[in-house]
Formats: sequence, structure tokens, C-alpha cells
Amino acid sequence: MKILKTRVAVSNHSNEVKSQGKKLSFVPTMGALHQGHISLVTLAKKNSDHVIASIYVNPTQFGPNEDFDSYPRDIQNDLDLLEKAGCNAVFIPDEKEIYPEGKPESKNIVKENADILCGKSRPQFFHGIWLVVSRFFEIVQPDMALFGEKDFQQLQIIRNMAEEEGFNIEIIGAPIIREADGLAMSSRNKYLTEEERKIAPKLYEELKHIAEKILHRESVEHAISEAKGKLTNVGFDVDYLELRDSESLKLLNEYNPKARLFAAAMLGKTRLIDNIPI
Ligand code: AMP
Repeated sequence: MKILKTRVAVSNHSNEVKSQGKKLSFVPTMGALHQGHISLVTLAKKNSDHVIASIYVNPTQFGPNEDFDSYPRDIQNDLDLLEKAGCNAVFIPDEKEIYPEGKPESKNIVKENADILCGKSRPQFFHGIWLVVSRFFEIVQPDMALFGEKDFQQLQIIRNMAEEEGFNIEIIGAPIIREADGLAMSSRNKYLTEEERKIAPKLYEELKHIAEKILHRESVEHAISEAKGKLTNVGFDVDYLELRDSESLKLLNEYNPKARLFAAAMLGKTRLIDNIPI
């Protein structure tokens, strides 16, 4: 596996791959990799001839009081996992490769859906994501890029970004990979205490309960408020628990075939997010 550290090295590498007529895929990550990330590499390998991953903890998507400094970093383990998964190259840039002009203010870039769900409590988040992913797309110039449905809102905003900025890149969404007890894998799960780790799968359990009730045509509002109560009782501080359209992300108050449940909650110091289709 090639390790690439500069924009020029990546650009040369991807030009070479594409000049051989190969399909190039791209998997951006923030490192501290787990099987959720690796599933994207595996899917990328199935759909293309050459996979480039990236590891970069992007400062513009973190708020001033968020966990940029403490975000887990474990490069050696990441490289081992990527290599084992058959990834062909990994881009590990430092800040000046991505933001040569200095770290920009990322505000008001995303016009749609940046201030709902995760964007409500993290106002800078999707603007930072839009900015960094578009920079990566410019540098890597892949034929396709893969993103997890774990970050479903991010996936939809990136689809909009690719269209609006005219990137000819296919955006592929991949299913959420979970621990055996249902907890969605996340680099941030490392923050959970032993006690919290036992409670954490209840978020997914409650999503499934709500989905069942909605399918039985029970009141969406009632199902959600009951689940919120249960989550609060076991120690979650629920940020949002909402039924939305999976394409437009518009709020729904009754079942439709594109309905999807979205949740975010703090458990101690850890922010957990999850979502399921109905
Ligand atoms: P991150 O390193 O958290 O920025 O995630 C990088 C990519 O991996 C994003 O496209 C995420 O949606 C995806 N991802 C993270 N966790 C999971 C998971 N449990 N299942 C599937 N994809 C995931």
C-alpha cells in the first residue's frame, strides 16, 4: 500500500491509475479505523480497480468546544487495517496540504439541510465537511467515493455538494456496521466508560421499537416521546429523535416508504448518532 502525503503525490498517483484505464474509488476517513470504515474499503474494491483512502482529522468541521484535540488517533493500527483490507494507497495529508491558504472560516457554504439534525447543535459541522470533501475530490479526482449511512445526513449533503459543484463522481452509500449488540461502530465509542458501553446499544433498540410502532400505524409523536423518556431514564441526554424523509430530509409525522428515523444523544461525554429506515 502506497502512503501519500502531498497533493502532488496523490494527483500524480491518481493520474497514473486512471491513465491505465482503471476505475478509481476514494474512501475518506478521520482514522481510528474500525470495521465500519473497512466495510467501505471492501465495497470500494468490489466496485472499482483501485482504492485510495484518506486519513485526516478535519479541523473545520469541529466546533470550538468539541473534541478535535482529543479525537482518537492511531495511525499504525489504521495502516495495518487498510493494508489487510487490500487498500491500494492512503493519503495522509497535514493541514497545509488541504488548506494551503490557512484554515478557512467555514460558514454558510451549505444551503440545504445544514441546520437540522446534527447541524442544529453543531452549526459549523456540515460547512466544514462540504469544504474538506470538495478539496479531497479536487485532489484525488476519483470515479466514485464511498460514505457510510451511519452519517446519513452527511451522505445526503455530500450528494448535493457533488452535484452543485459539478463533480463527475459517483457517490455510493454503504450500510451501517454494528457491534454484535447493535451499537453502531464509531471511532468515538472509545470514549465510553465500561458502564456507558453497556447502556449504549439501547439507542438502536429504541429506534427499532419506534419503527415497529410506526409500522403498526401508532402515533409517530407518541412513539418518539415514549422512546425519549426511556432513553433519558437510562442516562442518555437526547439531542434529537426524529422521523424524516430519507432524500429531502424533511420532517415527517407519519409513515411513508422513504421514512427514516434519526437519533443523536449524549451518553456522558460521548455523542452517539444512529439512524434506521422504517
Ligand atoms: P469518520 O472517520 O467517522 O469520518 O468516518 C469515515 C467514513 O466511515 C464515513 O463515510 C462514515 O459514514 C463511515 N462510517 C463510520 N462508521 C461507520 C459504520 N459503523 N458503518 C458504516 N460506515 C461507517
